[in-house]
Amino acid sequence: MQVNREHIGIFGKMNSGKSSLMNLLTQQETSITDSTPGTTADTKIALIELHGLGPVKLFDTAGLDEKSLLGEKKKSKVLNVLKECDLAIVVINPATDDFATEAFLIEKARGMDKQMLVVFNLFDTAMPFDDKLYQKMPLLKFYPSLSLEAINLQERDRLIRFILNNYEATGIHNELLPFVEPDEFYILNIPMDEETPEGRFLRPQSMAVEYITRKWAYPVAYRMDLKAARGEKAEAEKKRFDTFINGLMKRPKVVVTDSQAMDIMAKWTPEDIGLTTFSIMMINYGSNGRIDEFYEGAKVLNDLKGGDKILIAEACNHSRIQEDIGTVQIPAVLKQINPEVKVEFNFGREFQENECLSSYKLIIHCGACMISNQKLQARLRDLRSVGVPVTNYGVFLSWVQGHKALERVMEPWISE
Ligand code: SF4
Repeated sequence: MQVNREHIGIFGKMNSGKSSLMNLLTQQETSITDSTPGTTADTKIALIELHGLGPVKLFDTAGLDEKSLLGEKKKSKVLNVLKECDLAIVVINPATDDFATEAFLIEKARGMDKQMLVVFNLFDTAMPFDDKLYQKMPLLKFYPSLSLEAINLQERDRLIRFILNNYEATGIHNELLPFVEPDEFYILNIPMDEETPEGRFLRPQSMAVEYITRKWAYPVAYRMDLKAARGEKAEAEKKRFDTFINGLMKRPKVVVTDSQAMDIMAKWTPEDIGLTTFSIMMINYGSNGRIDEFYEGAKVLNDLKGGDKILIAEACNHSRIQEDIGTVQIPAVLKQINPEVKVEFNFGREFQENECLSSYKLIIHCGACMISNQKLQARLRDLRSVGVPVTNYGVFLSWVQGHKALERVMEPWISE
């Protein structure tokens, strides 16, 4: 049977202690350690079970700094392992002077959105190391690090704790709509506008339909006329919505709405029916269930001051309509909260450098349906490392409707 394993790669220069670290983790001589440069001729693999993490495939890679034709081949193999692994552990001997190889590795891993941990292998525990390596590898400061003596078997527990405390396992079973129960009805409110493509639902919508159906429950799509609901025909539109809800043979459990309709849905959704948004669903899914982080981030909105910078981040470059949510609706609300707030934008798959990120008071992120969960999680790690809070379109647009609406959209995600 195929077992889903976390892939953890150990990287670094020749003789930095990668193999010792591998042996420390496997508790056996999986890798031969020797001070002869290039002892790890090729990548060594070990399948182990780490308590708290589950099945793991460990890779002990060759030194990236080996200078020969064979060394070049090994290098490309090492970089392939880097692509394959979920976590890169970079082993550094801080007593050396040249950190070009490590800097190269860190940049490569960062470019691939890898989770990364740094282990300083102390060959001489009495020798303190200064911060020269942080000057030579500025990116280092964004990654958790641990100093240890890799050949000391007593260090194993500390090393494992360090990994468990800092690594977000990819194997966490992440549910799209964890509250869905069999035989229940779930309403998907899909207003549709000029930019809505014909012939298909958008990705979050079709994912929700598939998920609810798979769970033996009943997804029911409803198209709300938002213009009518907000204008003179509001009464007729409300009547149409009530007729739809009351026409179902069973009371629906939860309405999942387009976040833009929160101004209407917060008022119109009957109290006995749950309410949340597609954007919240997607960001919770992509962040591996970290919706709390986006809820906490929204608290910054209560305390916005003139001159505060807010970044609106969308993970794609979709075509924009007149009333675009990211470029028009959200900035307009922010200006109402405080006209002196500065709003900036980040569109597309590439995210800002951490140096730039740290200047923001808050990031308001879209549902991120067009990037991988790994990529979104890399963004969130960057934000955590610079201490900048983040919220999400769905959370933001619910917050705008008041405390009760915000608590309501969060309620389905609180596990009992
Ligand atoms: S990536 Fe973001 S902006 Fe683009 S379609 Fe998905 S939720 Fe909308």
